[in-house]
Amino acid sequence: MQRGLMKKALILSVVVFIIVSIVGPTAFLTIPADLNLLEEKEEEGNDQVRISESKEFHEVKGKIREGETLFDIFKKYGLHPGDLFSLREASADIHKLRNLRVDQPYRILFDADKQINSFTYWIDDDTILNITCGENGFCAEKIPVSYEKRTEQLAGVIKDNLISSLSQDKESLMLALDLSDIFAWDIDFATDIRKGDTFKVVVEGLYLNGEFRKYGRILSAEIVNKGEPYHAYRFEDEEGVDYYDAAGRSLKKAFLKAPLSFRRISSNFSRGRYHPILKITRPHHGIDYAALQGTPVSSAGDGTVVFAGKRGQYGNLVILRHRNGYTTYYGHLSKINSNVRKGVRIAQGSLIGNVGATGLATGPHLHYEMRINDRPVNPLSIKIPRGRTITGKSMAEFARVKAAMDIELASVSSSTFLASQKGTPEKAVNNGG
Ligand SMILES: [Zn+2]
Repeated sequence: MQRGLMKKALILSVVVFIIVSIVGPTAFLTIPADLNLLEEKEEEGNDQVRISESKEFHEVKGKIREGETLFDIFKKYGLHPGDLFSLREASADIHKLRNLRVDQPYRILFDADKQINSFTYWIDDDTILNITCGENGFCAEKIPVSYEKRTEQLAGVIKDNLISSLSQDKESLMLALDLSDIFAWDIDFATDIRKGDTFKVVVEGLYLNGEFRKYGRILSAEIVNKGEPYHAYRFEDEEGVDYYDAAGRSLKKAFLKAPLSFRRISSNFSRGRYHPILKITRPHHGIDYAALQGTPVSSAGDGTVVFAGKRGQYGNLVILRHRNGYTTYYGHLSKINSNVRKGVRIAQGSLIGNVGATGLATGPHLHYEMRINDRPVNPLSIKIPRGRTITGKSMAEFARVKAAMDIELASVSSSTFLASQKGTPEKAVNNGG
C-alpha cells in the first residue's frame, strides 16, 4: 500500500492518461438489482406490513455530497426526523450513519405519508447497508455485493503526459497503481517509462446488472519498456498468490527499483565526481534523487534499522540492514518517521521518512546508497536476486495458466492498439468469458 502511495503522482502522469482514454468514463450511479431482491425478501417476511401499499412508494436516490448529512437529505425530501433517529439507532451496532462518505450512493423508499420503508446505502464498493421497516421497527443489515466477473483486455501506448484530473475515473487509476505495483521491482514508472512504451493487461472486470463497476484482479500483463518486454502472470498454489515472469520466477526482488517517486536523478553513482559544495572531486557512492521537499521515502527492501538520526554530511540518515550483507542508506531526510528506531524491523515499501536537504546538500534530494558487506555498489547496475521460483507439480499448472494468458494477451491485436490510441472504448475493451 505504501509503495502505491509513494508512486502515485508520477504514475498518474504516464499510465492513467492512457487507460482513461481507452475505457472511457464509467457510470457508478445506478443501484443494482440486488436491492430489488432484498425488498422482495423483506416483503415476504413482513407480509402484513406494507405490501398492499407498495405501489405508492416513492423512491429517491442520489450520492452523498460534500458535507451532506442524513439530516440534510431528510430535510430536502420532507421526511420525518423521528425516522432518522430510528434509522440511526437500528444501524448503530453495524454501521454508524453519522459519517457518510462523499460520493457513495444511497436510496430511500417512503410512502405517501412520508413514512420510511427502507434506506439503502453503499458503505463501500463491496458492502451495502440496508435498513428496512418491519413489524418491530427498523432493522439493519450489511449485505456483501456479489459481482459478475468478466475478463477484460486493455492495451495502450504510454505517453509521457501530465494528467489533468484523477477524479475522472477512479477505477482506471486503481488499475494503473496495481499495474505499477506488479512491475515495481523491474520498472521505475517515474523515470524508466518512455514515450511509445506499450502495455497489455488482462484483468477481471466486476459487473452488476451488466454494468461495469470496477476492476478486480490483474490476471496477466505485458509492458514493453524501451523495447524490452516484461511479463507478469498471476498464479496461486499452496505457497500463496504471486506474480511470476514467463519462466515462473516471482517478480518480487529483495530491493525495489527506487525508494521514492522522484523527479530526476541529479547525480549518479560514480567513482569520482566534482562536489558542488566542497568544490573537490571525490567518489559519489550513491544515487541522488532530486525530489520535492517532503516526498515520501520508502525502504527499498525488508530490513532492520541500524541507524536513524543525524550524521555529518548525510544530515538526517536512516541505515537499514538487509539479508546477505546488504545495507541501504537514505540521507538528507527532512524528517525520519517516528517508528524508525534502531533495532526496528521495516518491511519493503514502508514509509521511513521524507525528502529534505539536511546535512551537506544544495537542495532537497534523497541520497540513496547500497552497500554489500560495507562496500558501496551501484543499486541500478547490480543484479538483484528474485524471489521464489515455481517448481515441481506447480510448474505444470503454471504452464497451463501461462499458456491461457498468452492467448489472451496475443488476442489484443495491433488494430486494438491503434483504436486504443484514439480512445474508442468499444474496440479497445473486449469482454471475454
Ligand atoms: Zn549523494
